[in-house]
Amino acid sequence: MVLDPITKRTVDTLTRVITKKPPVGLHEPIFSKDEFTFVNECLHSGFVSSIGEFVTQFESALAEFTGMDHAVAVVNGTAALELALKACGVGLNDEVLMPALTFVATANAVSHIGAVPHFVDSCEETLGVHPGKLDQHLSRISRMTDSETLLNRETGRRIAALLPVNIFGHPNDMAIIRNIAERHQLPIIEDAAESLGSLYHGKFTGNWCRASAISFNGNKIITTGGGGAVVTNDASLALLIKHMSTTAKVPHQWEYHHDMVGYNYRMPNINASLGCAQIKQLTGFIRAKRELADRYHEAFDQIDGVTVFKEPQGSQSNYWLNTLVLDESNAHQRDDIIAASHSAGYYVRPLWKLLHTLPMYRKCPSADLSISESLERRIINLPSSADL
Ligand SMILES: *Cc1c(COP(=O)(O)O)cnc(C)c1O
Repeated sequence: MVLDPITKRTVDTLTRVITKKPPVGLHEPIFSKDEFTFVNECLHSGFVSSIGEFVTQFESALAEFTGMDHAVAVVNGTAALELALKACGVGLNDEVLMPALTFVATANAVSHIGAVPHFVDSCEETLGVHPGKLDQHLSRISRMTDSETLLNRETGRRIAALLPVNIFGHPNDMAIIRNIAERHQLPIIEDAAESLGSLYHGKFTGNWCRASAISFNGNKIITTGGGGAVVTNDASLALLIKHMSTTAKVPHQWEYHHDMVGYNYRMPNINASLGCAQIKQLTGFIRAKRELADRYHEAFDQIDGVTVFKEPQGSQSNYWLNTLVLDESNAHQRDDIIAASHSAGYYVRPLWKLLHTLPMYRKCPSADLSISESLERRIINLPSSADL
Protein backbone atom coordinates (compact mmCIF):
# COMPACT_ATOMS: atom_id res chain seq x y z
CA MET A 1 0.00 0.00 0.00
CA VAL A 2 1.32 3.44 -0.92
CA LEU A 3 0.73 5.86 1.94
CA ASP A 4 -0.07 9.50 1.31
CA PRO A 5 2.50 11.93 2.80
CA ILE A 6 0.54 12.96 5.92
CA THR A 7 -0.22 9.36 6.86
CA LYS A 8 3.38 8.33 6.34
CA ARG A 9 4.77 11.25 8.31
CA THR A 10 2.33 10.63 11.16
CA VAL A 11 3.35 6.99 11.52
CA ASP A 12 7.04 7.92 11.20
CA THR A 13 6.61 10.55 13.91
CA LEU A 14 4.93 8.07 16.27
CA THR A 15 7.84 5.69 15.75
CA ARG A 16 10.29 8.48 16.51
CA VAL A 17 8.54 9.90 19.61
CA ILE A 18 7.73 6.54 21.20
CA THR A 19 10.90 4.71 22.08
CA LYS A 20 9.06 1.64 23.35
CA LYS A 21 8.75 -1.19 20.81
CA PRO A 22 5.26 -1.80 19.36
CA PRO A 23 2.65 -2.98 20.15
CA VAL A 24 1.88 0.24 22.03
CA GLY A 25 -1.59 0.57 23.60
CA LEU A 26 -3.51 3.81 23.91
CA HIS A 27 -3.28 3.93 27.70
CA GLU A 28 -1.98 1.31 30.09
CA PRO A 29 -1.88 1.23 33.91
CA ILE A 30 1.48 1.16 35.69
CA PHE A 31 1.94 -0.72 38.97
CA SER A 32 4.87 -0.39 41.34
CA LYS A 33 5.72 -2.45 44.42
CA ASP A 34 3.22 -0.63 46.65
CA GLU A 35 0.25 -1.80 44.59
CA PHE A 36 1.17 -5.43 45.30
CA THR A 37 1.92 -4.71 48.98
CA PHE A 38 -1.31 -2.82 49.69
CA VAL A 39 -3.62 -5.25 47.87
CA ASN A 40 -1.91 -8.11 49.65
CA GLU A 41 -2.36 -6.35 52.99
CA CYS A 42 -6.04 -5.83 52.22
CA LEU A 43 -6.51 -9.53 51.41
CA HIS A 44 -4.81 -10.51 54.66
CA SER A 45 -7.04 -8.15 56.65
CA GLY A 46 -10.17 -9.97 55.42
CA PHE A 47 -11.88 -6.61 54.82
CA VAL A 48 -12.23 -6.69 51.05
CA SER A 49 -15.75 -5.32 50.68
CA SER A 50 -17.66 -2.20 51.64
CA ILE A 51 -16.01 -1.70 55.04
CA GLY A 52 -12.31 -1.06 55.57
CA GLU A 53 -9.58 1.43 56.27
CA PHE A 54 -8.28 1.74 52.71
CA VAL A 55 -11.50 3.40 51.55
CA THR A 56 -11.23 6.14 54.17
CA GLN A 57 -7.51 6.49 53.50
CA PHE A 58 -8.08 6.75 49.76
CA GLU A 59 -10.77 9.39 50.27
CA SER A 60 -8.43 11.49 52.43
CA ALA A 61 -5.63 11.17 49.89
CA LEU A 62 -7.98 12.26 47.10
CA ALA A 63 -9.28 15.26 49.01
CA GLU A 64 -5.71 16.25 49.80
CA PHE A 65 -4.47 15.79 46.23
CA THR A 66 -7.30 17.78 44.68
CA GLY A 67 -7.28 20.36 47.46
CA MET A 68 -11.00 19.79 47.91
CA ASP A 69 -12.72 19.46 51.30
CA HIS A 70 -14.50 16.13 50.77
CA ALA A 71 -14.18 12.98 48.67
CA VAL A 72 -16.59 10.03 48.56
CA ALA A 73 -15.27 6.88 46.87
CA VAL A 74 -17.75 4.83 44.83
CA VAL A 75 -17.85 1.86 42.44
CA ASN A 76 -17.19 3.75 39.21
CA GLY A 77 -17.23 7.15 37.55
CA THR A 78 -20.72 6.67 36.11
CA ALA A 79 -22.11 6.00 39.60
CA ALA A 80 -20.23 9.06 40.90
CA LEU A 81 -21.94 11.23 38.27
CA GLU A 82 -25.33 9.69 38.99
CA LEU A 83 -25.09 10.35 42.73
CA ALA A 84 -23.70 13.86 42.27
CA LEU A 85 -26.56 14.80 39.93
CA LYS A 86 -29.20 13.26 42.14
CA ALA A 87 -27.81 14.84 45.31
CA CYS A 88 -27.91 18.24 43.56
CA GLY A 89 -31.63 17.81 42.99
CA VAL A 90 -31.67 16.59 39.39
CA GLY A 91 -34.42 14.04 38.79
CA LEU A 92 -37.17 12.64 36.61
CA ASN A 93 -37.78 14.55 33.34
CA ASP A 94 -35.22 17.25 34.12
CA GLU A 95 -32.88 18.27 31.32
CA VAL A 96 -29.12 18.39 31.87
CA LEU A 97 -26.97 20.49 29.55
CA MET A 98 -23.91 18.51 28.46
CA PRO A 99 -21.62 18.21 25.45
CA ALA A 100 -22.37 15.72 22.67
CA LEU A 101 -18.62 15.34 22.41
CA THR A 102 -17.93 13.06 25.37
CA PHE A 103 -17.85 9.41 26.39
CA VAL A 104 -21.29 7.78 26.48
CA ALA A 105 -21.16 7.35 30.28
CA THR A 106 -21.85 11.07 30.81
CA ALA A 107 -25.25 10.76 29.14
CA ASN A 108 -25.92 7.33 30.66
CA ALA A 109 -25.57 8.74 34.18
CA VAL A 110 -28.11 11.45 33.33
CA SER A 111 -30.51 8.83 31.90
CA HIS A 112 -30.12 6.45 34.86
CA ILE A 113 -31.80 9.00 37.15
CA GLY A 114 -34.63 9.60 34.67
CA ALA A 115 -33.27 12.92 33.41
CA VAL A 116 -32.70 13.86 29.76
CA PRO A 117 -29.40 14.89 28.18
CA HIS A 118 -29.60 18.20 26.32
CA PHE A 119 -26.61 18.47 24.02
CA VAL A 120 -24.61 21.65 23.52
CA ASP A 121 -21.62 22.39 21.32
CA SER A 122 -17.91 22.19 22.21
CA CYS A 123 -15.09 24.58 21.42
CA GLU A 124 -11.74 24.11 19.69
CA GLU A 125 -9.82 25.88 22.47
CA THR A 126 -10.73 23.56 25.37
CA LEU A 127 -12.59 20.66 23.67
CA GLY A 128 -15.16 21.34 26.42
CA VAL A 129 -18.42 23.28 26.48
CA HIS A 130 -18.45 26.31 24.16
CA PRO A 131 -19.35 29.18 26.52
CA GLY A 132 -20.55 31.66 23.88
CA LYS A 133 -22.73 29.15 22.07
CA LEU A 134 -24.14 27.87 25.37
CA ASP A 135 -25.14 31.38 26.39
CA GLN A 136 -26.74 32.11 23.00
CA HIS A 137 -28.58 28.80 23.01
CA LEU A 138 -29.98 29.38 26.50
CA SER A 139 -31.13 32.90 25.59
CA ARG A 140 -32.93 31.45 22.60
CA ILE A 141 -34.64 28.39 24.09
CA SER A 142 -35.03 28.98 27.83
CA ARG A 143 -37.17 31.10 30.07
CA MET A 144 -37.09 31.70 33.83
CA THR A 145 -40.44 31.20 35.54
CA ASP A 146 -41.75 33.36 38.38
CA SER A 147 -40.71 30.63 40.82
CA GLU A 148 -37.16 30.84 39.37
CA THR A 149 -37.22 27.58 37.47
CA LEU A 150 -35.34 27.55 34.18
CA LEU A 151 -37.61 26.02 31.55
CA ASN A 152 -36.85 24.78 28.06
CA ARG A 153 -39.56 26.61 26.10
CA GLU A 154 -39.43 24.03 23.32
CA THR A 155 -39.92 20.92 25.49
CA GLY A 156 -41.59 22.41 28.57
CA ARG A 157 -39.11 20.58 30.79
CA ARG A 158 -37.00 22.10 33.54
CA ILE A 159 -33.31 22.59 32.77
CA ALA A 160 -31.79 21.49 36.06
CA ALA A 161 -28.00 21.46 35.72
CA LEU A 162 -24.96 22.07 33.57
CA LEU A 163 -22.58 19.13 33.18
CA PRO A 164 -19.29 20.13 31.55
CA VAL A 165 -16.72 17.43 30.79
CA ASN A 166 -12.94 17.85 30.91
CA ILE A 167 -12.19 16.07 27.66
CA PHE A 168 -8.91 14.10 27.59
CA GLY A 169 -8.01 15.87 30.85
CA HIS A 170 -8.29 19.47 29.63
CA PRO A 171 -10.20 21.90 31.88
CA ASN A 172 -13.18 23.87 30.62
CA ASP A 173 -13.10 27.65 30.81
CA MET A 174 -14.70 27.56 34.25
CA ALA A 175 -14.71 31.30 35.02
CA ILE A 176 -16.93 32.05 32.01
CA ILE A 177 -18.97 28.88 32.34
CA ARG A 178 -19.70 29.54 35.99
CA ASN A 179 -20.75 33.05 35.16
CA ILE A 180 -23.26 31.75 32.59
CA ALA A 181 -24.51 29.07 34.98
CA GLU A 182 -25.01 31.61 37.77
CA ARG A 183 -26.99 33.91 35.53
CA HIS A 184 -29.34 31.02 34.77
CA GLN A 185 -29.24 29.67 38.33
CA LEU A 186 -27.89 26.33 37.15
CA PRO A 187 -25.75 24.17 39.46
CA ILE A 188 -22.59 22.87 37.78
CA ILE A 189 -21.84 19.20 38.23
CA GLU A 190 -18.60 18.36 36.51
CA ASP A 191 -17.51 15.20 34.73
CA ALA A 192 -13.86 15.17 35.77
CA ALA A 193 -13.54 11.44 35.02
CA GLU A 194 -10.47 12.11 32.85
CA SER A 195 -8.97 15.14 34.57
CA LEU A 196 -7.65 14.14 37.98
CA GLY A 197 -4.59 16.33 38.54
CA SER A 198 -5.52 19.01 35.98
CA LEU A 199 -5.63 22.60 37.20
CA TYR A 200 -7.56 25.70 36.16
CA HIS A 201 -5.92 28.93 37.35
CA GLY A 202 -3.78 26.79 39.64
CA LYS A 203 -6.66 24.93 41.30
CA PHE A 204 -8.69 21.77 40.71
CA THR A 205 -11.70 22.59 38.51
CA GLY A 206 -14.05 21.29 41.22
CA ASN A 207 -13.64 24.64 42.97
CA TRP A 208 -15.92 26.18 40.31
CA CYS A 209 -18.63 23.47 40.69
CA ARG A 210 -21.07 22.01 43.18
CA ALA A 211 -19.51 18.57 42.71
CA SER A 212 -17.04 16.76 40.44
CA ALA A 213 -17.08 13.10 39.42
CA ILE A 214 -13.77 11.28 38.90
CA SER A 215 -13.17 7.81 37.40
CA PHE A 216 -10.53 5.21 38.31
CA ASN A 217 -11.28 2.79 35.49
CA GLY A 218 -8.30 0.82 34.19
CA ASN A 219 -7.61 3.28 31.38
CA LYS A 220 -7.70 6.47 33.49
CA ILE A 221 -4.66 8.31 34.87
CA ILE A 222 -4.78 6.22 38.05
CA THR A 223 -6.89 3.09 38.54
CA THR A 224 -8.59 1.11 41.28
CA GLY A 225 -9.58 -1.61 38.79
CA GLY A 226 -13.01 -0.07 38.64
CA GLY A 227 -13.90 2.91 40.76
CA GLY A 228 -14.92 6.50 41.00
CA ALA A 229 -15.34 9.37 43.44
CA VAL A 230 -17.27 12.55 43.99
CA VAL A 231 -15.26 15.48 45.32
CA THR A 232 -16.87 18.66 46.61
CA ASN A 233 -16.37 21.56 49.01
CA ASP A 234 -19.95 21.19 50.25
CA ALA A 235 -20.02 19.21 53.50
CA SER A 236 -23.74 18.42 53.51
CA LEU A 237 -23.63 17.34 49.85
CA ALA A 238 -20.72 14.99 50.60
CA LEU A 239 -22.61 13.53 53.54
CA LEU A 240 -25.74 12.97 51.44
CA ILE A 241 -23.76 11.30 48.64
CA LYS A 242 -22.00 8.99 51.08
CA HIS A 243 -25.38 8.16 52.65
CA MET A 244 -26.94 7.41 49.26
CA SER A 245 -23.95 5.26 48.24
CA THR A 246 -24.18 3.09 51.37
CA THR A 247 -27.82 1.90 51.06
CA ALA A 248 -28.95 4.99 53.01
CA LYS A 249 -28.31 3.11 56.23
CA VAL A 250 -28.69 5.22 59.35
CA PRO A 251 -25.56 4.63 61.46
CA HIS A 252 -26.30 2.32 64.38
CA GLN A 253 -24.33 -0.46 66.02
CA TRP A 254 -26.81 -3.20 65.13
CA GLU A 255 -30.09 -1.78 63.77
CA TYR A 256 -30.78 -1.88 60.04
CA HIS A 257 -32.69 1.30 59.48
CA HIS A 258 -32.67 2.94 56.02
CA ASP A 259 -34.34 6.29 55.42
CA MET A 260 -34.44 6.50 51.60
CA VAL A 261 -33.97 4.34 48.50
CA GLY A 262 -30.22 3.98 48.62
CA TYR A 263 -27.59 2.46 46.37
CA ASN A 264 -24.89 -0.13 46.87
CA TYR A 265 -22.27 2.11 45.27
CA ARG A 266 -19.56 2.25 47.95
CA MET A 267 -16.06 1.53 46.62
CA PRO A 268 -14.89 -1.88 47.94
CA ASN A 269 -11.86 -1.82 50.24
CA ILE A 270 -9.87 -4.07 47.88
CA ASN A 271 -10.22 -1.52 45.09
CA ALA A 272 -9.33 1.30 47.45
CA SER A 273 -6.14 -0.52 48.49
CA LEU A 274 -4.99 -0.36 44.87
CA GLY A 275 -5.99 3.30 44.78
CA CYS A 276 -3.92 4.14 47.88
CA ALA A 277 -0.82 2.90 46.07
CA GLN A 278 -1.71 4.49 42.71
CA ILE A 279 -2.31 7.95 44.11
CA LYS A 280 1.25 7.99 45.47
CA GLN A 281 2.41 7.75 41.86
CA LEU A 282 0.06 10.40 40.49
CA THR A 283 2.44 13.36 40.61
CA GLY A 284 5.03 11.30 38.74
CA PHE A 285 2.46 10.17 36.16
CA ILE A 286 1.43 13.77 35.47
CA ARG A 287 5.04 14.88 35.08
CA ALA A 288 5.74 12.01 32.65
CA LYS A 289 2.58 12.64 30.65
CA ARG A 290 3.31 16.35 30.32
CA GLU A 291 6.80 15.50 29.07
CA LEU A 292 5.34 13.10 26.52
CA ALA A 293 2.93 15.86 25.41
CA ASP A 294 5.93 18.19 24.90
CA ARG A 295 7.63 15.57 22.74
CA TYR A 296 4.48 15.09 20.65
CA HIS A 297 4.13 18.87 20.24
CA GLU A 298 7.71 19.30 19.09
CA ALA A 299 7.60 16.39 16.67
CA PHE A 300 4.21 17.13 15.08
CA ASP A 301 4.97 20.88 14.82
CA GLN A 302 7.10 19.95 11.83
CA ILE A 303 4.12 18.57 9.91
CA ASP A 304 1.75 20.90 8.08
CA GLY A 305 -1.92 20.07 8.30
CA VAL A 306 -1.93 18.50 11.77
CA THR A 307 -1.57 19.93 15.27
CA VAL A 308 -1.25 18.34 18.68
CA PHE A 309 -3.87 19.78 21.01
CA LYS A 310 -2.34 22.13 23.62
CA GLU A 311 -3.73 22.76 27.10
CA PRO A 312 -5.99 25.82 27.14
CA GLN A 313 -4.62 29.18 28.36
CA GLY A 314 -4.73 29.45 32.15
CA SER A 315 -4.95 25.68 32.58
CA GLN A 316 -2.47 22.98 33.45
CA SER A 317 -3.62 19.68 32.03
CA ASN A 318 -2.82 16.13 33.11
CA TYR A 319 -2.70 15.28 29.35
CA TRP A 320 -4.58 12.05 30.05
CA LEU A 321 -4.79 11.39 26.30
CA ASN A 322 -2.76 13.25 23.71
CA THR A 323 -4.78 14.42 20.77
CA LEU A 324 -3.89 14.97 17.15
CA VAL A 325 -6.20 17.43 15.38
CA LEU A 326 -6.21 17.28 11.57
CA ASP A 327 -6.93 20.38 9.51
CA GLU A 328 -10.31 20.19 7.81
CA SER A 329 -8.53 19.63 4.46
CA ASN A 330 -6.92 16.47 5.86
CA ALA A 331 -9.98 15.13 7.69
CA HIS A 332 -10.58 12.55 4.95
CA GLN A 333 -7.21 10.93 5.85
CA ARG A 334 -8.28 10.16 9.42
CA ASP A 335 -9.12 6.50 8.91
CA ASP A 336 -6.01 5.90 6.74
CA ILE A 337 -3.85 7.34 9.53
CA ILE A 338 -5.57 5.14 12.11
CA ALA A 339 -5.29 2.02 9.94
CA ALA A 340 -1.61 2.63 9.12
CA SER A 341 -0.80 3.31 12.79
CA HIS A 342 -2.53 0.11 13.84
CA SER A 343 -0.61 -1.85 11.18
CA ALA A 344 2.60 -0.46 12.68
CA GLY A 345 1.43 -1.51 16.19
CA TYR A 346 0.37 1.91 17.57
CA TYR A 347 -3.18 1.71 18.88
CA VAL A 348 -4.38 5.24 18.21
CA ARG A 349 -8.15 5.76 18.09
CA PRO A 350 -10.73 8.16 16.70
CA LEU A 351 -13.00 10.35 18.80
CA TRP A 352 -16.15 8.75 20.27
CA LYS A 353 -19.19 9.03 18.03
CA LEU A 354 -21.08 12.17 19.04
CA LEU A 355 -23.79 11.16 21.49
CA HIS A 356 -26.72 12.73 19.64
CA THR A 357 -26.05 10.27 16.79
CA LEU A 358 -26.45 7.17 19.00
CA PRO A 359 -29.85 5.43 18.76
CA MET A 360 -30.90 6.00 22.39
CA TYR A 361 -29.95 9.70 22.39
CA ARG A 362 -31.06 10.67 18.88
CA LYS A 363 -34.27 12.31 20.08
CA CYS A 364 -32.74 14.35 22.91
CA PRO A 365 -32.89 18.15 22.69
CA SER A 366 -29.82 19.61 21.13
CA ALA A 367 -28.22 22.92 20.19
CA ASP A 368 -26.29 23.57 17.00
CA LEU A 369 -23.36 21.12 17.16
CA SER A 370 -21.34 22.19 14.12
CA ILE A 371 -18.01 22.52 15.96
CA SER A 372 -18.38 19.10 17.61
CA GLU A 373 -19.22 17.61 14.22
CA SER A 374 -16.10 19.10 12.72
CA LEU A 375 -13.90 17.95 15.62
CA GLU A 376 -15.33 14.43 15.35
CA ARG A 377 -13.97 14.14 11.80
CA ARG A 378 -10.52 15.44 12.72
CA ILE A 379 -9.45 14.01 16.10
CA ILE A 380 -7.10 11.08 16.68
CA ASN A 381 -5.95 10.11 20.19
CA LEU A 382 -2.30 9.13 20.49
CA PRO A 383 -0.73 6.54 22.81
CA SER A 384 -0.36 8.31 26.16
CA SER A 385 0.71 5.89 28.92
CA ALA A 386 2.92 7.49 31.56
CA ASP A 387 5.80 5.10 30.79
CA LEU A 388 6.22 6.20 27.16
C1 LIG B 1 -14.38 7.01 32.01
C2 LIG B 1 -15.37 8.07 31.87
C3 LIG B 1 -16.58 8.04 32.57
C4 LIG B 1 -17.09 6.88 33.34
O1 LIG B 1 -16.27 6.34 34.27
P1 LIG B 1 -16.41 4.79 34.64
O2 LIG B 1 -15.55 4.67 35.84
O3 LIG B 1 -15.94 4.00 33.48
O4 LIG B 1 -17.86 4.54 34.96
C5 LIG B 1 -17.43 9.13 32.46
N1 LIG B 1 -17.13 10.18 31.69
C6 LIG B 1 -15.99 10.25 30.99
C7 LIG B 1 -15.71 11.46 30.18
C8 LIG B 1 -15.08 9.19 31.04
O5 LIG B 1 -13.96 9.25 30.32
